[in-house]
Amino acid sequence: MKPQARAEDVQRVCEKIESLGFRAHPMPGAQRTAIGITGNPGAIEPAEFESLPGVAEAIRVSKPYKLVSREVKSEDSLIRVGPSAKLENRNSKLETGNSEPAAGDGDFDSRASSSDSRTSSFIVGGPELAIIAGPCAVESREQALAAAECVKKAGARLFRGGAFKPRTSPYSFQGLGKQGLEILAEVRRATGLLIVTETIDPENCDLVEEYADVLQVGARNMQNFSLLKRVGRSRKPVLLKRGMSATLEEFLMAAEYVLSEGNYNVILCERGVRTFADHTRNTLDLSVIPAVKRLSHLPILVDPSHGTGKRDKVIPLSRAAVAVGADGLIVEVHPQPERALSDGYQSLSPGEFESLMREVSAIAGVIGRRTSLA
Ligand code: PEP
Ligand code: MN
Repeated sequence: MKPQARAEDVQRVCEKIESLGFRAHPMPGAQRTAIGITGNPGAIEPAEFESLPGVAEAIRVSKPYKLVSREVKSEDSLIRVGPSAKLENRNSKLETGNSEPAAGDGDFDSRASSSDSRTSSFIVGGPELAIIAGPCAVESREQALAAAECVKKAGARLFRGGAFKPRTSPYSFQGLGKQGLEILAEVRRATGLLIVTETIDPENCDLVEEYADVLQVGARNMQNFSLLKRVGRSRKPVLLKRGMSATLEEFLMAAEYVLSEGNYNVILCERGVRTFADHTRNTLDLSVIPAVKRLSHLPILVDPSHGTGKRDKVIPLSRAAVAVGADGLIVEVHPQPERALSDGYQSLSPGEFESLMREVSAIAGVIGRRTSLA
């Protein structure tokens, strides 16, 4: 749509699309609104739309993924995480310069957010890098609260921690389940940090959705199409991790599943892929960041913890991820990594995470980004 197009113009185009039996996907951006069309069995005549008021151009998308592609939406997507503008004390639109209408959870009044006045929203994909930190798994109230205090003090704005863990072995710690989610709600109330936690199947999503600010879909579930469709019907933003053997096209097609259901708030995450290398757990594919940026408007984060699997490589690869243009990091931090019930060998200590924050903040400044520190 043209930058000056009015809401009625957008509405009229959507109605026209729906009247043809297709689905309209209006995606507002800072300058203009893009409207994707899905459900059409073949090509549509662009002239049918170009004559409508407010329409700038009608474009045929050449890629197999449509809604995630830059052909449909040329501007970077800004994903609002946390309470909508209406629920906030402070106006984060002014803080961030974001002029998109409230994306993310809209009016969704989550169990975690309803009574909490300390939590303000965060925009992923804007100038401030999204730094998500916390343990692999929520192990206890004490562990989670201690981790949250440390990462908050060091400058993280979002807290990670699995309550439901997809483990390779059925005998490994599977997470605390609902109790873990309740601990995460307490972390949120106590610290104001926004909560990122994993949903492992469509049924489990009903519960996780009540507590999470961001629904994480793990690498092992990147092609769990019923889960992708389920989170696509959620009003919470989704953090979609790349499968460990997924090509870029498969990764973007997985994101397309979520958008095609109407949830346009997807944050991608590179977390390493399987290769023959055995000096790391996975090979962190940092070249995928500029490749995604070229093809898609969605933000992309890097997980240097699973991406390397080794504590001593997490800080160097975090620096590199920020330098290459990632929109943020998701990092495992444990108050006592040697006692962690999962992924301790790749978890940073609180002191190491402070160093990471200092170093990535310095690099962010060089490329016109920032963290909460600077
Ligand atoms: C995690 O973030 O703890 C996790 C299980 O990650 P992945 O899905 O990338 O393996
Ligand atoms: Mn982990």
